[in-house]
This record gives sequence, structure tokens and C-alpha cells, in this order.
Amino acid sequence: SIIMDPIKIAPFEATAIESIPSTVNLCRTTFRSQTTKPIAYRLTQLRKLYWGLVDNTDALLKACTLDLGKPEFETHLSEIDWCKNDIMFITKNLAKWMKDEKAPDIPLTNSLLNPRIRKEPLGTILVIGAYNFPVQLSLGPFIGAIAAGCTGVLKPSEVSPATAMVLKNIVENYLDPNAYAVVNGAIPETTALLNEKCDKIFYTGNATVGTIIAKKAAETLTPVCLELGGRNPAIVTKNADPRIAARRLVWGKLMNAGQVCISQNYIMVEKEILPAFVEQMKIALKEFYPNGQKTSPDFARIVNKRHFLRIKKMVDDSRGKILIGGEMDESENFIEITVVQVKDDQDSMIVDESFGPLIPLLAVDDVEEAIKTANSVHSTPLGLYAFGSKAETNKILDNVTSGGASVNDAFFHGCIPTLAFGGVGDSGQGAYRGKSSFDVFTHRRSVVTTPGWMEKLLDIRYPPFSAAKLKK
Ligand code: NAD
Repeated sequence: SIIMDPIKIAPFEATAIESIPSTVNLCRTTFRSQTTKPIAYRLTQLRKLYWGLVDNTDALLKACTLDLGKPEFETHLSEIDWCKNDIMFITKNLAKWMKDEKAPDIPLTNSLLNPRIRKEPLGTILVIGAYNFPVQLSLGPFIGAIAAGCTGVLKPSEVSPATAMVLKNIVENYLDPNAYAVVNGAIPETTALLNEKCDKIFYTGNATVGTIIAKKAAETLTPVCLELGGRNPAIVTKNADPRIAARRLVWGKLMNAGQVCISQNYIMVEKEILPAFVEQMKIALKEFYPNGQKTSPDFARIVNKRHFLRIKKMVDDSRGKILIGGEMDESENFIEITVVQVKDDQDSMIVDESFGPLIPLLAVDDVEEAIKTANSVHSTPLGLYAFGSKAETNKILDNVTSGGASVNDAFFHGCIPTLAFGGVGDSGQGAYRGKSSFDVFTHRRSVVTTPGWMEKLLDIRYPPFSAAKLKK
């Protein structure tokens, strides 16, 4: 059966390194054969992937539970249904996106050449996924590559091994095996993939590895799309509604136990609203988890021991005071949502990205101080969250740059499936989702076709040049 038994997910197995060059080569040969370019082929592959997701929903739910203790509700919403929606949206719009675009504002003589942009697939691409949304971050870009007419290899994160195995099963059994493949593994397998020349590398993960990928890609002038990390500020001014801000920012850390790249990494709160804000956070947590997070089916676990210890160390190293939470259980990689009032922006919980359920609060005198601090912690974060009056939130948007932003909310901008998603500066380059998923794997090729009968009109461009020709 190509439907994975949800109870028995195959143990993680890395792909044989020797097989990697021929896998990429097959994708390249298939791309050159023109097979993947017609719209009918692309739509068929996208539909097959859709049914692969439907058929293997139970296996994916199980895998995300094994890997991250992800609540099934979250796996449906932010992984499986997310990808299904992407496929439906892209399928509906693909014909329109694939059409040639005419050059704008051209004089009549130029229009006779039909200057246009052809949307051409880049070729054979490599998608390297991250562990926190192991389905969405792998298949999301891959869906865009299929839509664009590319062939390619997907390298899911080995840090979420159960999901990686289910993805391999889906891609290899539902899609054209000559055009698409999954390579599983860690650094050696990824390095072997990077040694093969691809036409674009789409990488999601931390900035240190992002730099390795970009350097390697530069050797062969391979373009990259880099979806990198957070350290995202949230700012709550005295004019914000403390209840709304608290509920939404708690939500910004509870999904996937804070293992979300666009989650706020720290919150700056104007001093006079701080007590009310903390009180409302307590109320929100009590409402969302009446019996605490540990026994709740609605709270995920940290992906593994290494990350558990990393996050624990951030709390241990902090000079701040724990206001809410603080419970941890190493035996099940559980970390409770932990609110800590830190003393300054040099605190371990602000300097690094926690990528976990930590909420450091930094009291500030005013919006100006918050803006100054945000810019000194990280000049180009992935996300920015501003709560306050319209004038204040506009001021914050104007003065702190970021990949994306939500006003009066935690990372909700990242939940709008057709809104382009990407970083800026060292939080990444390039964007995807919605039409951007098609664009990121498409070469906009400028073309003209000069009719033979125009030769007389074109005479002006040939020597001998003369003053008379200049006047024409
Ligand atoms: P990870 O450990 O899953 O690694 C990401 C990928 O990089 C994996 O596929 C892994 O195999 C590969 N990799 C690791 N070391 C490598 C090496 N030396 N050479 C080549 N490939 C290598 O995930 P992570 O990096 O720990 O992810 C967390 C980080 O990613 C956070 O900073 C988070 O903010 C960021 N992130 C960003 C986005 C986004 O969309 N911008 C999404 C998720 C996570």
C-alpha cells in the first residue's frame, strides 16, 4: 500500500550518499526533456500530491506527534491543510500566472516586436526543510517548484525524522519519480546534494547554516532563497489593550511550543502598563490551559534533548525574574510557557533566539526606547509585532524594519496563506507562498520577436551613421 500505516512509520533511514548524484542527474535529464513544462503535467502532479496528503493524513498526524508532540489540531491547520490550501490556490491560478506578460508603456514601433516576459521554470531545484513545521516548510516550497515546472529534490529535516520518512513515502509514491525525489539525511547527505549543481536552492533554517549554503551556492553562482531566523521584537505601549495584547502574544508562543520562526522572541512593554499586561497573561494562560500545559493535549514538546537543554540554559543564564511558569521536564522535553522579566537587552533570553516557549519582558520608558532597543538587538528581524495606538504602531513600523509584521497581533501575518513570506537582511532573502511560491522558482525571461518585414524600419540602427538618421 502506498498509504502509510499510521501506527508503523518506518524508522529513519538516511539516503545512500552514492545514489545522490544519479538522483539529481535524473531530475536534470527529466527537466531537459520538457516533460514538466506543460500545465497539464504540473496540475496532475499537484493533484497527486494533494491526494498523497489526504491518503496519508493519519501518518502525518502521527509523525508530527512523534517528532514534536504537535497537537493534531495544529498539524491539520499549519501543516496538512496548509499545504492542501496552497495546492488548491495555486491550481486555480496557475494558467493565469504562466501567461506571458507584455512589456508596459512601449511605443508602437516596439510593440511590433511583441516584447514580453515568458515565465520559465528555473530547472532542477533543491529544497532543504527545517524541523519545526516539517510538512509545511518542506512541501510548501516544493509545491511552488512543481507549479513553476521545475524538477527537484526535497531534503526534509532529519531533526523531525518520522515526518521525513512519511514525506519520502508521499513524494516517491505519488509524484513522477523521474522528476521528484526525497533525499533523507543530515550534514553528509546535504553536503552531497550541495555538491551537485542545482538551478536554485531553497533553504529554511538557522542563519549559520544559511551562510554555509549561500557560500557553497556562490561557488557555482546558484541562486538561493534563504528563510532564516527570528529574534523578533514585540512592543506593547501604554495605549494598547492589555487583555488583547496578552492573549495574542501568549498565542504567539503557545503554537508548537514556541518553535515558530516568526514568534516574538521578546516583548518590550511600557512600564505603566506592565503590571496589567502580566496579569492578563496569567488570566489568558489559565483560560487556555485550565489544568496547565503539561497534561494538555494542546501543547507541543521541544523537538529533542539538545534543543531542550539549549532553551533551559537560556533560562538558567538569565538574570531576570520568572513571573509565570518555569516548569521543565527533561524526560519528555517539556518546557512550560515561561514569562521572565529581564533587566536589560543584554540578557541571554534577548540576545539569542529562544525558538521555544520563553517570553522575556523588558520594561521600557517609552516607544522611542523600544524602537532604539529593537534596532540594537537585531537590525533586520524576521517579524515585528506592535501593539498601541495607530500613531504609535505606524511609528514602530516606520522605524524598525522586519521581514513581515503584524499590528495589534502576534505572528498572524504569517498565517495568511497568499501573503508573500520572507525575511530581510540577515533574516533571509527571497519570499514564497501564494503567487510568490511560483515566482521564486520562475525565471522571467524577456523576449522579443522581430518580424522580417520590419527591416526597412530598422535601417536606422545600422551604420553608416549620419546626422540625418539621428533626426529620424
Ligand atoms: P534544522 O536543524 O531542521 O536545520 C535546517 C536544515 O539545515 C535541515 O534540513 C538540516 O539537515 C540542514 N543542515 C543542518 N546543518 C547543515 C550543514 N552544516 N550543511 C548543510 N545543511 C545543514 O533547523 P534549524 O536550523 O535549527 O531551524 C531553526 C532556525 O530556523 C531558527 O533560527 C528559525 O527561526 C529558523 N526558521 C526559519 C523559518 C523561516 O521561514 N524563515 C522557518 C523555520 C525556521
